[in-house]
Amino acid sequence: MTEIGYYQLLKQLPQIDQILRLLEGDDRTAGATRSLVVKEARTAVDEARKAILAGKQPDTGAAAIAARAASRIERGMRPSLRRVINASGVIIHTNLGRSSMAKAAKAAVDDVMDGYCTLEYDIDAMARGSRHSHCESLICQITGAEAAIAVNNNAAAVMMVLSEFARGHEAVVSRGELIEIGGSFRIPDIMDQSGATMVEVGTTNKTHPHDYERAIAPETGMFLKVHPSNYRVIGFTKTVSVADLRRIADKENAHRLPEDAILVYEDQGSGSFVNLDVYGEYAEPTVAESIALGADLVSFSGDKLLGGPQAGIIVGSKKLIDRLKKNPLARVLRLDKMTLAALEATLRLHLDPKVAMREIPTVRMLAEDPEDTRARAEKLRDAISLRIDAACADLAVVPEISRAGGGALAQCDIPSYAVEVAFNAGNAQDCEEYMIKQLPVPIVGRIRQERVLFDARTIIDDGEITSIAEGLAAYFGQLD
Ligand SMILES: *Cc1c(COP(=O)(O)O)cnc(C)c1O
Repeated sequence: MTEIGYYQLLKQLPQIDQILRLLEGDDRTAGATRSLVVKEARTAVDEARKAILAGKQPDTGAAAIAARAASRIERGMRPSLRRVINASGVIIHTNLGRSSMAKAAKAAVDDVMDGYCTLEYDIDAMARGSRHSHCESLICQITGAEAAIAVNNNAAAVMMVLSEFARGHEAVVSRGELIEIGGSFRIPDIMDQSGATMVEVGTTNKTHPHDYERAIAPETGMFLKVHPSNYRVIGFTKTVSVADLRRIADKENAHRLPEDAILVYEDQGSGSFVNLDVYGEYAEPTVAESIALGADLVSFSGDKLLGGPQAGIIVGSKKLIDRLKKNPLARVLRLDKMTLAALEATLRLHLDPKVAMREIPTVRMLAEDPEDTRARAEKLRDAISLRIDAACADLAVVPEISRAGGGALAQCDIPSYAVEVAFNAGNAQDCEEYMIKQLPVPIVGRIRQERVLFDARTIIDDGEITSIAEGLAAYFGQLD
């Protein structure tokens, strides 16, 4: 560029006032604060100036610059927490909110949000009730437990169980289970916080029943068994079952007073009410099985395999659960009415596993026959080809592997199908960024070898299929 061209371009840049006048008449800025509008008008002019200084020739027209500012203002006003389409194939995607709620859960939340509700009111007694009562009998029906309590999440549940039953005592745990779950939730740290003394037994790969037997001391208050979550030791391994822990605890407890008994507590992580075929060799004992094998207490998440809202559920005998209900942490970690409503509705669907598979999106995604996933992928491919110019991209339905995510069924390959987009115009990185940053409802897919994949297993409904097709069409539409 000649020097004159360069100065001319800089001189052509519009005044901020001119941009502001244009923005005033733009629908996209309706509701924006003055300070946001001024900030984005300045930024848009600055960007054009920087582009010129970098030797580029941006459109310096006031209309073009105002349009860029308007689209940023519009994006700036979007809610921070909002809907996303998960086409990544990771079913329990913690970054994307883990579980999409069943319709019944949504309706239940809606019902209690609109007015007052029976949160702590007992209709039969026409008197004060307990918020713990809404989900307890459902959890007991599903798991066969005698009593239950639901708190903020499973991390909270672990904390609460340890501080009620292991504070000032020793809790014995296998070295193979001293895990970090992510977000600084580490078993040794939680132990420390709860006031329990951790006694490690065994090795990373092998722990034997005699390791627990030898660790028993007068101070021993608990055997803690932790699900290894998204981590696996494979090969030369051995872990001790809940049944073995029960047997070892019973032998010792025969010489102790009931109140000094060693408790067997399992943090199941994901927890599961049913064993789905898809779990195959990765199947873990369900909550009911763990109780049947002799765990005194079992805790698990509400929003992993159960597909409900964020919550932590603890089940066990009435005597033990009553102690938890009286612990001050029960007040600190209690659930609010919206979560309780969603949880109760989700649990009701779990009463019949067939209904759960049909109505709870997470369970449907885990259990779905790959042929049904393929049909959804084909529907998506057809919806896309209807909307884009065939020359822009090659579309194919390809076999894929979905993941359960959320630390559940780690390493378990769930067969799936995806629509693969190979780009003749634009490219995969650019498209991914556009779909996430520019669309009103961001779409999260996956990139592999310069291609974008939309996994059909985690797509929720036809509305999402249309949105993905339209989003892709918008991407190709704005190229050039
Ligand atoms: C996920 C998980 C937790 C934490 O559960 P949140 O509901 O996410 O708080 C605790 N323990 C194990 C073994 C887990 O897998």
